[in-house]
This record gives sequence, C-alpha cells and structure tokens, in this order.
Amino acid sequence: MCMYDVARNLHEVLGKLPDGVKLVAISKFHPNEYIEAAYREGQRVFGESQEQELSRKVESLPKDIEWHFIGHLQTNKVKYIAPYISMIEAVDSLKLLKEINRQAAKHDRIINVLLELHIAEEESKYGFTPDACRQLLEDGEWRSLANVHISGLMMMASNVDDNGQIRKEMSLAADLFDELKAKYFADDPGFKERSWGMSHDYDIALECRSTMVRVGTTIFGPRVY
Ligand SMILES: *Cc1c(COP(=O)(O)O)cnc(C)c1O
Repeated sequence: MCMYDVARNLHEVLGKLPDGVKLVAISKFHPNEYIEAAYREGQRVFGESQEQELSRKVESLPKDIEWHFIGHLQTNKVKYIAPYISMIEAVDSLKLLKEINRQAAKHDRIINVLLELHIAEEESKYGFTPDACRQLLEDGEWRSLANVHISGLMMMASNVDDNGQIRKEMSLAADLFDELKAKYFADDPGFKERSWGMSHDYDIALECRSTMVRVGTTIFGPRVY
C-alpha cells in the first residue's frame, strides 16, 4: 500500500455508494498517515474498534474528524471517549447504554448510538438477538436516558462466501429496522441508520438498504495486527 492507493481506493468505494449512504472508513490498526491520506481526499468519518488506539489517534489528527466506535465497548472505557465520540455503533446491552448516557451527561452531550444486532450464525459475535432488541425497546427504560440518542441498527453478517446467507441476514436486519421504526421511532426522524456492509459484502448491504457502510481493507489494505 502507498498513499496513492488509499486515495484511489477511497474514491472507488465512494463511487459505488448511492446518495445518502455514508462511508465510515475503518482505520483500525492503520497508521495516521493512511487516515491523513483519506482525509486529504475529503473523507471525514472514520471508525476505530479499540479505545486506546482511538485516543492516541484523536490527539494527533484533525479535530473535525467524526469518529465512530465500532468495536465491543467495555463500560469502563466509555468515559474516555464520551467527550468527543460522534457515534457508538455497537451498543449491545442496556448496561452499556446507561453508562454512555451517564458519561454523555457529564459532558453535556447527547451521544448517537446504534443497537448492535446479533443475527449472524457465529457464536462469538456480540449484540442483541432480534427478540432481545424488541424487548429492550418495549421495556422502555431507554426513553429516560436523555443523553443518548438511538439512531438506528448495526450488524455484521456471517463471515461466509454464501451471498444468499449474507443477503438473508441483512434483509432480516432491514425488516427489523422497519418494524422498530414504526413501533418506537415513528416520531423520530433521527432513527434512520442501518449500518451494515464491510469490504467483502457492502455491495450486498446496499441492496439490503444499508445507509452506512464500514469499509476498511478495501481502502487501506490488509491490517497488520
Ligand atoms: C474491522 C471492522 C470492519 C471493517 O472490516 P473490513 O473487512 O476491513 O472492511 C467493519 N465493521 C466492524 C464492526 C469491524 O470490526
């Protein structure tokens, strides 16, 4: 990879996205120079999955970057990112939602979050099953959390070659979005995001009404862990 590739790859991905679909450039494990190369091309939304790495990058990169936290977030780490995080994409428990609310209140902010769905077959993945997600919203405690705003749903499809399987999972997520929108967020135009699609499956995600794709490898190349 060189900087030229980052710029070219970025534009190639952007060129495939319909109007209204946001690109979250997933920069985890990539150095600042790569982020700066994308930034110079106009990209402003980046995603990271580890608090320490993110905090380091935030300090040294332009302040108008919108950072999305895309990984599993431990409640004890929320306080570090609460002052600046633009969106926390992978909220997978009420406990985490409440802690985000508490920390956001300290900074007099409202933090946008997505509820992470667990639809994929992999056991290891975090997130709410569709029923657990319905239950969370039905219970209603989230309504009292004035400093978090639920902006939509996020999911990762199974890591398989079977496009039919991926499409099935993403369609299920899109249908659930419609259901929850109608039942709990009909009055909130801000509940609008469907975050699915990564390097290998964002084309399918676009067919399944994604509004936000999280693409790393295709832009920045393979990660060196
Ligand atoms: C790493 C990661 C991505 C990006 O994956 P690529 O295959 O590199 O595009 C997207 N979403 C989540 C949640 C991730 O952890």
